[in-house]
Amino acid sequence: MEGDILRRSGLEHTSTFQAPHALRFFPVWSCENYPLELPEGHPFPNRKYPLLENLLKESGFSEHIRRCGTIDPHLLEHAHTRAYIESVLSFSLSPEETRRVGFPVGQSYLNRALASVEGTLCATKEILFNGSRLSGVLAGGTHHAFADHGEGYCTFNDVAVCARYALNHSVNRVMVVDLDAHQGNGTAAIFAHEPRVFTFSMHAEENYPRQKERSTLDIGLPSGVEDKHYLRLLKEHLPMILDYFQPELVFFQSGVDVLAADRFGRLGLSLYGLQQRDSFVFENLLARKIPCVITLGGGYQKDHSAVARAHAQTYLTAAQKFHEHAPA
Ligand SMILES: [Zn+2]
Repeated sequence: MEGDILRRSGLEHTSTFQAPHALRFFPVWSCENYPLELPEGHPFPNRKYPLLENLLKESGFSEHIRRCGTIDPHLLEHAHTRAYIESVLSFSLSPEETRRVGFPVGQSYLNRALASVEGTLCATKEILFNGSRLSGVLAGGTHHAFADHGEGYCTFNDVAVCARYALNHSVNRVMVVDLDAHQGNGTAAIFAHEPRVFTFSMHAEENYPRQKERSTLDIGLPSGVEDKHYLRLLKEHLPMILDYFQPELVFFQSGVDVLAADRFGRLGLSLYGLQQRDSFVFENLLARKIPCVITLGGGYQKDHSAVARAHAQTYLTAAQKFHEHAPA
């Protein structure tokens, strides 16, 4: 069964991936509120959430998947204006604001938005208060949400809320490593004047959002960029900024819409290239003993199970690297 999972995840293509017994699991949070009710034909890959959770359970994560509820709305004020929070809670977004988010507004929409941030907050608390080196959420990475509005399927910015929460709980420097195909515009804008947060975004230059914000470091990629070029750029920049900024906590937005098969990403990575990307990120963080919260980010292939497999690969790659860095 586990071998099947790896095969279906595409992990058999990797020369580095080891047998499941060489994985070291870490806590991840999930919630039944993550898939929301959507009209037939909506392009959002709703089914990826339960599919991903099942894949991880079958791969050995079962005892490490924890359930979360919805966040206390007051905590959203870490990153959002009170007026915006109120308008989401009272279902009073304007038609234009609703259009920008891209989801039909209703109770399931609100529950999902609140649960996404809560999952990331639980994963953050696990690191802050339990000393874990690695934790994750099977949602989140909603990086297009600004302080006063949402857009691009993002209502609240989970990473921004949790980065501020960490700064208020004795963390001095936070880095956001955003490798989704789309720029982390909301996160960049929220932290534009916050020197304790380094925002790093590597994204398709000719893609949404049309108007980019300024991250601490942006790398705009040419459309269709393939593994070799992509990985060279990542390897040139990530170790350098980690050594320069020395973050005490990293939030990894691990979007899989960088894959060539993605409908919205406009980049050209293979599944193997994606595994190499993730492997490089975890290797660099674990070698430096920098704790990391993994969030999901985007992935928009028509085949929802293919999206789930790509996300599962990220978590299993993390577990593999975590094992390699386990204390002897
Ligand atoms: Zn994206």
